Amino acid sequence: MKNFKEIFKEAQNKISGIAAAPGIVISNVYLFTKETLEINHSSITDVEEAKKNLDEALFKSKKELNKIFSIAKERMGPTRAAIFEAQLMILDDPILISKIKERIESEKKQPEYIVNDEISKYQEMMINSTEAYMKERAHDIEDIKHRIIRNLQKKRWQSKIPNDSIVVSDSLTPADTILLSRHNVHGFITDHGGLTSHAAIISRSLNIPCVVGTHNATTKIKDGDKIIVDGFHGYILVNPTEEQIKFFHGKINKLIELQKGLEEFVHAPAKTIDGKEIILAANVDVTGEIDLVITNGAKGIGLYRTEQILEELGEFPNEDEQTRIYANLSSRIYPEWLTIRAFDIGGDKFKFVDYDEPNPFLGLRGLRILLENKTLFKTQVRAVLKASKNKNIQFMLPLVTTITEIHKAKEIIDECRKELRTEKISFDKNMKIGIMLEVPSAAVMARELANEVDFISIGTNDLIQYLMAVDRGNDLVSDLYQEFNPAVIRTIHHIVTETKKVHKSVSLCGEMAADTLAIPLLIGLGLDSLSMSPATITYAKRIIRLLSFQKAKALADECLKFTTEKEVTARIEKFFKENSITRTRNII
Ligand code: PEP
Ligand code: MG
Repeated sequence: MKNFKEIFKEAQNKISGIAAAPGIVISNVYLFTKETLEINHSSITDVEEAKKNLDEALFKSKKELNKIFSIAKERMGPTRAAIFEAQLMILDDPILISKIKERIESEKKQPEYIVNDEISKYQEMMINSTEAYMKERAHDIEDIKHRIIRNLQKKRWQSKIPNDSIVVSDSLTPADTILLSRHNVHGFITDHGGLTSHAAIISRSLNIPCVVGTHNATTKIKDGDKIIVDGFHGYILVNPTEEQIKFFHGKINKLIELQKGLEEFVHAPAKTIDGKEIILAANVDVTGEIDLVITNGAKGIGLYRTEQILEELGEFPNEDEQTRIYANLSSRIYPEWLTIRAFDIGGDKFKFVDYDEPNPFLGLRGLRILLENKTLFKTQVRAVLKASKNKNIQFMLPLVTTITEIHKAKEIIDECRKELRTEKISFDKNMKIGIMLEVPSAAVMARELANEVDFISIGTNDLIQYLMAVDRGNDLVSDLYQEFNPAVIRTIHHIVTETKKVHKSVSLCGEMAADTLAIPLLIGLGLDSLSMSPATITYAKRIIRLLSFQKAKALADECLKFTTEKEVTARIEKFFKENSITRTRNII
């Protein structure tokens, strides 16, 4: 039986994008094309009539939005629905409305022209803002601007679509997403947008699989085409072959089977049958995922990839902006822990220097960049400290290679603490400092490194890459990217035992933690904390609650003796059978 990787590798009909909301669906496409608004620039003679038209359009827009707001509250809860409340406030803004009316009187132009011009100015201001939040709000304003103009032109918004379709569109406003979803939409696909786009956030709240940022799905997919959407991996297969349909039907059935009764695990502890509790925390890439973290019952955030903020903004936020982002997350997750990882830039991630490095993965990345750019690092450290008043934040350094780097980083952190004390700004004096263990040299020295910090988190994505000398994103060598290679599992074992010798806590936050096949082995190797994408937590919990820790330990001891990856995986597969635990490998 082929796996996802193989199916997608050989597919000629594939489109890829960003996996924005999990799930697999097969259905027909509804190509949602939006009419481009033509703005009438002509002059008017009857000012009173124009102002009356404006009032009517505003009234109608408000009525429509109130309806959308109440549907949204019902479907997504009040917090998420607040997007629409903000739009309603714009419609009620007396300064904006009177400015538009004044201009209609003085310029004697069509109200749609003035509305477009006046609201676009607002938008421009927000788009140019350095704050991600403001940039996002600029899109909401686009939505409200179009709504008023459409109502001035007395055009109807098309929200009736065939039931059970997958909606493919250039982009989707929050209102589009909510209204279309009422027709039992099976999936959303957009050309534009990232993980934080409203289509993505709303899809996650509504549990509708979604792939965004495909660039050209609307040109490659036709109305009525049959497609498969894989919201776990961010792939779309257009007019799939029989083999592809069969494969995904199999996956959907397994998913349904696995999801049965999963809800009962959300609030249950991740405890083995012989009573060992495992902490299951969440990896968070964008703040929008926080709802998923909470609804999936995660024990805090084990990895917050702050470099994603830079991907969103395209630049470094200043100290105040960062403080606000971190403090907000800390309050949302309180009383659980929030592990903030310092910007992990360079390599394949956010490009920091213009210089093209011949070997970026072995070059200036992670902590190396931060130590070379002290101001940048200090801004983040100060922001993290200032946001730490709830005392539930811990700070983690990426890509540590040597003990000297830890010393240097700690000196800078101390410097920031001193500055804040002088400035009489309060912060958590005991904020824990940890490191990512993802470079072989650091793994070898695990005990000494652990001695320097409060906690260790194993980053298997990079650790495997560097240990096996295999680019984590290169298909040509993906066969050598082996999670279960004895070298990898012996290294993890070494890190865990060495860290425990100095009584420091150790967790694992690479993708391996979400591989259901790996879970018994990792627990048997002594890991008592795992961090994974929020959607995978309940699956992991289900397995843990069927496991015996003693048996997992015996399994790990056995696997540590093997010399090939094949032997390890075969033994683990057998373990699942012996213990009658069903699982789907890499379903997510
Ligand atoms: C890792 O390397 O395992 C990890 C969790 O970090 P990232 O994937 O962000 O490099
Ligand atoms: Mg890493």
